[in-house]
Amino acid sequence: MADKVVIIGGGPGGYEAALVAAQLGAQVTVVDTDGIGGSAVLTDCVPSKTLIATAELMTDVAGAAELGVNFRDHEGDAATAITVDLARVNQRVMQLAADQSADITRRLAKEDVTVVQGRGRLDGPGRVVVDGDRTLKADAVLVATGAAPRTLPTARPDGERILTWEQVYDLTEVPTELIVVGSGVTGAEFASAYLALGIPVTLVSSRDRVLPGEDADASLVLEEVSKRRGMKVLSQSRMESVTRDGDVVTVALTDGRRIQGSHCILALGSVPNTGDLGLEEAGVVLTDGGFVNVDRVSRTSARGVYAAGDCTGVLMLASVAAMQGRIAMWHFLGDKVSPLDLKQVSSNVFTAPEIATVGWSQKAVDAGEIAAEVVMLPLSGNARAKMQGVHDGFVKLFCRPGTGIIVGGVVVGPRASELIHPVSVAVAESLTADQLAQAFTVYPSMSGSVAEAARRLHRV
Ligand SMILES: Cc1cc2nc3c(=O)[nH]c(=O)nc-3n(C[C@H](O)[C@H](O)[C@H](O)COP(=O)(O)OP(=O)(O)OC[C@H]3O[C@@H](n4cnc5c(N)ncnc54)[C@H](O)[C@@H]3O)c2cc1C
Repeated sequence: MADKVVIIGGGPGGYEAALVAAQLGAQVTVVDTDGIGGSAVLTDCVPSKTLIATAELMTDVAGAAELGVNFRDHEGDAATAITVDLARVNQRVMQLAADQSADITRRLAKEDVTVVQGRGRLDGPGRVVVDGDRTLKADAVLVATGAAPRTLPTARPDGERILTWEQVYDLTEVPTELIVVGSGVTGAEFASAYLALGIPVTLVSSRDRVLPGEDADASLVLEEVSKRRGMKVLSQSRMESVTRDGDVVTVALTDGRRIQGSHCILALGSVPNTGDLGLEEAGVVLTDGGFVNVDRVSRTSARGVYAAGDCTGVLMLASVAAMQGRIAMWHFLGDKVSPLDLKQVSSNVFTAPEIATVGWSQKAVDAGEIAAEVVMLPLSGNARAKMQGVHDGFVKLFCRPGTGIIVGGVVVGPRASELIHPVSVAVAESLTADQLAQAFTVYPSMSGSVAEAARRLHRV
C-alpha cells in the first residue's frame, strides 16, 4: 500500500515536497489555509519581484538619456516626468500572483495530490486534524507553515498608511513620502523599488549600514547608489514607534527624532507560524524563537514528523524551503538524498543594483573561519557595462589558497541574480579558479568579468 503523506502548508516548502512525494508513489494530501503557493506566491516573493520588474524598467528609463534616448510629450517638448500608474502595477502584481497560484494548483491536481482547504493541526505524530473536525491519518507529516511579518505593539499596521509588506499591493494612490523601517533584505528591496518608481523614500536603519547581513562592500555600493538617486538613509536610527494622525505617519526614533511621511512600510523581520499547531504535544521541539528544530534532512524530534521552510528558520528563502521539503520526502520515501548544504545556496537581494552571493562570505574569511584568497573586480572596466551605461557593481571571488578551488562569490550589478550562476556551479562542483577562467564567455558580456576575476586568481 502507498505511504500516506500529509503536508501542512502549501507554500514552496509544502508544494514542492508534495510533487516529489507523488512522483515517488505516495498518497499525498496538502492542507492549506490561504491558497496554494503560500506567502511566497501570494504575498511575498512573487508579488515583490513583479513590482520590482516595473521598478527595473523605471531604472533603465532613468538612465536612457546617457544612451541617447530622449522622451518627448505629444507636443514634442522634452518630457519632464515619467510616472507610474501604481494602481495598474498593483493590479498586475495581484493577477500574476493569483495566476501563479492557479498554475501550481493545477500541477498538483495533475499529479493526483489532494488539496484540502483549511487549518491543519497535529493530533499526535501520525494524525492531522483539519479545522477541528476532519482527521487525516499519515505515515509522515511535513510541517511547512511558513512565517508572518513581525509587528510591534508600538508599530501596528493599519493596512492603509502603516503597512506590512503583505499590504502594500492594496495601495491605489501613490505615497508622497514613503518611510521604510528596517534595512534588511525586505526593507532594502522595497525602499529601492519605490524610489525607482519615483516616490521619495526614507530608509530607517537601526544598524550602521544597510543590509547588515550581506557583504560589506556590496552594501556600501547599494547605499552609495541609493543616496545618489535621492534616497534618505538614516543609519543607527532605531524606531521606537509608528503612529498615524489623518494623512500623516510619524516614525519616532529612540534618540528623540521624529520623521514624517504619508506612508510607512514595516520590514521588521518574520515570526514563525508555529503557534497552536499541536507541535510540542506531538513531541516536536521548538527553538526559543518558536522555530521548528530540524536536522539537515528536515527531521524534527518527533518520529515521522518533518518540517521545511520559514517555520524552521534555517534560511528564509523560497529556494531553501523547496529543497528542505524535497529532502524530507526523499528521506522518508527512501530515495537518494544529500543533506542540505547552506554553503551551496545562491541568494539575491533584488535592489538596484542587485546583490547576489553564494558560498563562503568575506566576513567568514576575515574572521579566519576559512582560508581564502579574494579578488574583487569592478564592473566599470567591463566593455558591455560601458556600452550599457552601468557604472556600479563588482564581481568578487573567493578561492582556497593551495588548490584554487572556488568557495564563494559576490556579484553586484544589474541582473546579478543571473550572473551568479557560473559561480554557483563552480562552488557546487568544487571547480578551480583556472577551470572557471578557461570556459569561454561571450564578448562583450558582463559574465566576462566573472572569468576575468577567476583569471586574476591564477597562481604560477
Ligand atoms: C517581501 C518578501 C520577498 C521575498 N522574496 C524572495 C525571493 O525573491 N526569493 C526567495 O527565495 N525568497 C524570498 N522570500 C522568502 C520566501 O517568501 C519564503 O522563504 C518562502 O515563502 C517560505 O516558504 P514556506 O513554504 O516555508 O512558507 P510560505 O510560503 O509562507 O507558505 C506557508 C503556507 O502555509 C499556510 N499555513 C500556515 N499555517 C497553516 C495551518 N495551520 N494549516 C494549513 N496551512 C497553513 C499558509 O497559509 C501558507 O500558505 C521573500 C520574503 C518576503 C517577505
